[in-house]
Amino acid sequence: MVRYVYDFRDGGRDLAGLLGGKGANLAEMTRLGLPVPPGFIVTTEACRAFLATGAEPDGMAAEVSRHLSALEETTGRLLGQPDDPLLVSVRSGARYSMPGMMETVLDIGLNDDSVLGLAKVSGSERFAWDSYRRLVQMFGSTVMGVDPALFGEAMVLLKGAREAPDDVHLDASDLAWLVETYKRLIRDETGQDFPQDPAGQLRQAVLAVFRSWNAGRARVYRRREHIPDDLGTAVTVQRMVFGNLGPDSGSGVAFTRDPATGQPGLYGDYLPNAQGEDVVAGIRDTVPLSALERLDPRSYRQLRDHAQTLERHYRDLCDIEFTIERGTLWMLQTRIGKRTAEAAFAIAAELAGEGLITPDEALGRVHGEQLGRLMFPRFDTGRAGPALAHGVPASPGAASGAAVFDSAEAVRRAAAGERVVLVREETTPDDLPGMVAARAVLTSRGGKTSHAAVVARGMGRVCVCGAQDIAVDTGARRFTARDGTVVEEGTFISVDGSTGAVYAGAVPLVASATMRYLESGEQTGSVVAAVARALEHADVVRRLEVRANADTPEDAARARRFGAQGIGLCRTEHMFLGERRKLVEEMILARGDAGRAKALAALLPLQRQDFAGILRAMDGLPVTIRLLDPPLHEFLPDRTELAVRVAVAEAAGGQPEPHDVELLDAVNRMHEQNPMLGLRGVRLGLVVPGLVAMQVRAVAEAVAERVRAGGSPRAEIMVPLVGSVEELRLAREEVARVLAEVGEETGVAVHCPVGTMIELPRAALTAGRIAQEAEFFSFGTNDLTQTTWGFSRDDVEAAFFSAYLDKGVFASSPFETLDREGVGRLVRIAVEEGRAARPGLQTGVCGEHGGDPESIRFFHTAGLDYVSCSPFRVPVARLEAGRAALGGTDTGDSR
Ligand code: PEP
Ligand code: MG
Repeated sequence: MVRYVYDFRDGGRDLAGLLGGKGANLAEMTRLGLPVPPGFIVTTEACRAFLATGAEPDGMAAEVSRHLSALEETTGRLLGQPDDPLLVSVRSGARYSMPGMMETVLDIGLNDDSVLGLAKVSGSERFAWDSYRRLVQMFGSTVMGVDPALFGEAMVLLKGAREAPDDVHLDASDLAWLVETYKRLIRDETGQDFPQDPAGQLRQAVLAVFRSWNAGRARVYRRREHIPDDLGTAVTVQRMVFGNLGPDSGSGVAFTRDPATGQPGLYGDYLPNAQGEDVVAGIRDTVPLSALERLDPRSYRQLRDHAQTLERHYRDLCDIEFTIERGTLWMLQTRIGKRTAEAAFAIAAELAGEGLITPDEALGRVHGEQLGRLMFPRFDTGRAGPALAHGVPASPGAASGAAVFDSAEAVRRAAAGERVVLVREETTPDDLPGMVAARAVLTSRGGKTSHAAVVARGMGRVCVCGAQDIAVDTGARRFTARDGTVVEEGTFISVDGSTGAVYAGAVPLVASATMRYLESGEQTGSVVAAVARALEHADVVRRLEVRANADTPEDAARARRFGAQGIGLCRTEHMFLGERRKLVEEMILARGDAGRAKALAALLPLQRQDFAGILRAMDGLPVTIRLLDPPLHEFLPDRTELAVRVAVAEAAGGQPEPHDVELLDAVNRMHEQNPMLGLRGVRLGLVVPGLVAMQVRAVAEAVAERVRAGGSPRAEIMVPLVGSVEELRLAREEVARVLAEVGEETGVAVHCPVGTMIELPRAALTAGRIAQEAEFFSFGTNDLTQTTWGFSRDDVEAAFFSAYLDKGVFASSPFETLDREGVGRLVRIAVEEGRAARPGLQTGVCGEHGGDPESIRFFHTAGLDYVSCSPFRVPVARLEAGRAALGGTDTGDSR
């Protein structure tokens, strides 16, 4: 027979799924012999059955009354007994903590008779009536569905009539009057009386807690926190203890150590003469626990000892709720405590140092996101005013600078030593120099994988994108915030890429010690030492290699300092911008082969120099160089701007610049409705004569140069956006021809493995065929997500992702966290079929997902060889690859 109710003495921490976190931990504390008021737990299974059928499962009611009888026996009083009532609390408690999302009803067991008994035994009429009015109020709203505001209004009216500043100033007769008023309210609103039968109160309260699992706010919270909807909540029923019985009573919260820094020592707040609910509600100011040490040294010492017991038992930071009833300490709750990133690392290292947890467990207790947070410089938010706007926090960190509205202005001011923030509606590859020059990038359109976001993250540039509540007027060189604030060019603003907030003025920054350590190895303080230890251990246990996406020697060098084991993606398009755009224009506009060859020849030495620099920075490690990928018109001026320029010149009766006319003609010719699905990737290489040859020659000559200089260059050539093996075969033929040519010319045999990106579903589905021509696969999961879902990566996030997240279509953006079911399936198919066709085929990922913790866990289990991510994510990826390798190791429960 299914068992629906557990006494605290029968449960334990391992039953959290059945008893809820709160119930399981109360049971665990009971087993440890800590002073827990007795009680029992109705299981999540009962809740699930109730929610499925709308009725209590068979046998539950009988079990509840049996456990209630046992509780009455233990306490020597009956529930609601008129002369000395047993009172109980009824609280929700799901597997994962959902603070404030579900219901609680206190003081069950009070009625018109037992309130008098309580007054007598407690010696306080005021206390008894205050408890009763709390019950009627909570029961009225939670169980009987009366609008809580109506109770609040009655309270306000009474306080006004009594000229009482707060409810502490109301006396017993005021509160008794309030009880009558509340009861009348319930009758008027529901047509029913507040129930006087204690057992009925209990039953109804339990069912109300069950129902509250499906309340709107609880659903929204679960979606945000990725908590499954089908877990249900348990209900704990526990003897009430009272912190509001006078100055020798009170309630508080404590942590077994400081959750902000991880420093050992009891830490928390106490509120004398108050119930736990009052502490949370913040109705009066709390005092630090050091004050409790003076007020009630005995209880304080006990609390400290219990905290130590719990920390050693749970082998982690615990938080605690407690109540002192007339000098007796009661433990009401404990769980693994939430902590800052700093504290997470410090605590894990310290507990491992003490031998309380293993190095594997210590690694499991810290997260990549926490490490990422430790790496960002941050604003001193206490010194920031209200935010001007909010957008998508696309690339974390904090930076201030003068707002500028185009790339050239950003470059000009930065060259003059100014700090600038580039503000655009959205960015294009043309904005790259400005993005390099700027401290931060702010856009009013686009999501986390928009151009601005991807490029900014790649460079470690702070970025907030899709800030729809600013209107950017590039022409007038200003933006207007929703509150009407106008920010003109040159005005300082501050951009917080970790929260998405934008502030007026320059908010001061706090430097990050972790970043200094990663950059230079400088170890300052215990948090940095803890970070170092975690990373070292992750490097020992991980199977996945970590590479970086980098396309400059500086980024490559930084990535290497951060621990990258090579470059997984060198995007070459950034090498065609700035000064070099003129040459690209010439190549595109060239009428014949000779003109094109001339333009390409001018580009060749520049590209060679780029590659040589990167190969030098990554000497001895693999560098995967991708052939040009984006549509060529991205290197030409904007179509509308050109058209306007030509039209204005014509309208003024003059002759437009012939070069402008020529360019406009080319831009019009190359215009595509869906450029992301157009002439790009390998297609470009196959139709633009000489383009692939020039790039491969630049790579090969750079390799030869490095070999002659005594280096160990390990270039790999990667072909983007392949859909068919035939495309790859053709491209590869060209690559082989040029490599051989250069080998002959230089006398240095150049061998570069040639592989492909897997970015199209067709490539994944025909991976067996493609592997015949590919020496490696690199999953371009940005495009693979785009093409699998049919989502335009530049548009959808700002357009409708928030609605999709709200509706639960997905729990997180598939551009951020890999969609395992769809895109992940394609990855698995491609790995399996690719390796079957070519044993030992090397596989990696170079889309944004390569730096995302949850996705990294997937890539580990899918058997990939490496992940590649932006240099600044490399330490995070190392840590997460280590955590992924731990598999089933207990990693604590810090949700
Ligand atoms: C990808 O598509 O995942 C990728 C890495 O290429 P890009 O983002 O440059 O299109
Ligand atoms: Mg791509």
